Amino acid sequence: MKITMAHGSGGKATSELISDIFSRNFSNPILSRMEDSAVVPGAQTIAMTTDSFVVTPVFFPGGDIGRLSVCGTVNDLLMSGSEPKYLTCGFIIEEGADSADLERIAASMAETAREAGVCIVAGDTKVIEGKGGVCINTSGVGFVPQGRNISSANCELGDAVLLSGYLGEHHAAILSSRMGIENQIQSDCAPLGEIVGALFQNGIHVKAMRDVTRGGLATVLNEFASASHCRIELNEEDIPVSEPVKGFCGILGLDPLYMGNEGKLIAVVAKEDAEKAAQVMRSAKYGANAAVIGGVVEGEAGTLCVKTPIGGTRIVSELYGEGLPRIC
Ligand code: MG
Repeated sequence: MKITMAHGSGGKATSELISDIFSRNFSNPILSRMEDSAVVPGAQTIAMTTDSFVVTPVFFPGGDIGRLSVCGTVNDLLMSGSEPKYLTCGFIIEEGADSADLERIAASMAETAREAGVCIVAGDTKVIEGKGGVCINTSGVGFVPQGRNISSANCELGDAVLLSGYLGEHHAAILSSRMGIENQIQSDCAPLGEIVGALFQNGIHVKAMRDVTRGGLATVLNEFASASHCRIELNEEDIPVSEPVKGFCGILGLDPLYMGNEGKLIAVVAKEDAEKAAQVMRSAKYGANAAVIGGVVEGEAGTLCVKTPIGGTRIVSELYGEGLPRIC
C-alpha cells in the first residue's frame, strides 16, 4: 500500500496507519492508553535529548533509519551517565512511501528499543507532499543516578582516552551504498548501554563520554580539549580501524578521524583505570575492539594532536565545512 495524503488527515486512514503499523509494533501498556501524553514514573534527576533522522538510503548495510533513530537518542542519553528509560517518536512521511517499508522500519525500532531496554511511550505521524521519503524524530528521557558527574569539561592531565571499537564503519557503509560500491562494510549502528553499564558496574572513574557521530573522533576530542582547557594526544597506531575501512579510505582519500559512526563511544577515564576500562569494554557487546588510544598531556590548552608511527606529531582540528550530508 502506498501512503497518501489521506493517511495524514487525522481521520480513519490515519488511525488505521497508526494501529496497523506503529501501535502494533510498539505495543506496551503506557502507549496503549492512547492518551494525549504519556504519564510515567520518574526520578529526581533526568536527562532529556532529541534528535531527527534523515538518513538516505533508509535501509543500509548493517541497519536502517528505525534502528538508527533509537540508537542515536539512547546513546546520547547514555553519554550523560543516565539510564535511558522512555522514548517518543515522530514520523514525517512523504506521500508515496510504501507501507511495507514503514512496517519494516517500525519493527526494527521496536526490536532495537527492546535491546536497549527503553519503552516507546508516545508517537506522532504526519504525511506531507513529496517523493516517498521518511524522516523520524525521537526524544528520550533517562534517569541520572545520584552523584554521577559526566562532562566534557572534566578531563584532567594524565587521564586516558579510550575508543570502544573500529572507526568509520557507518560513514563508509552509507557512502558505499549511495555510490553503488560493493564491499563487506556494515554500519556499526548499535545501542551502547552494555558498554556504559559495565564501566560503571566495575567502578571505573569515567570523567567524560561522547558517542562518536557526525564530525568524527577529531571533532569530539577537540570539543573535550576546549571544554576542559587541556591538550589531548592520540597514538595513531593505537586507533582501531578495520582493514576494509582502511582500504575504502585509501581509495577515496577519506580520514577515519572525521568519519561518522553510530555505535562507538569515547570515554575519558582516570589514568589508573585505563587498562581495566579497556578490558571491561572489550567484554561488553559492541566493545570487542576497544582500545586505549591516547591521553591528556601537558601542552597548549584546547588542542588535539596525533603522534604518528614514525615519531612525528600533527595537530588535528575539528571538522570544517561539510561532512557527508544525510548520514544520520
Ligand atoms: Mg551524541
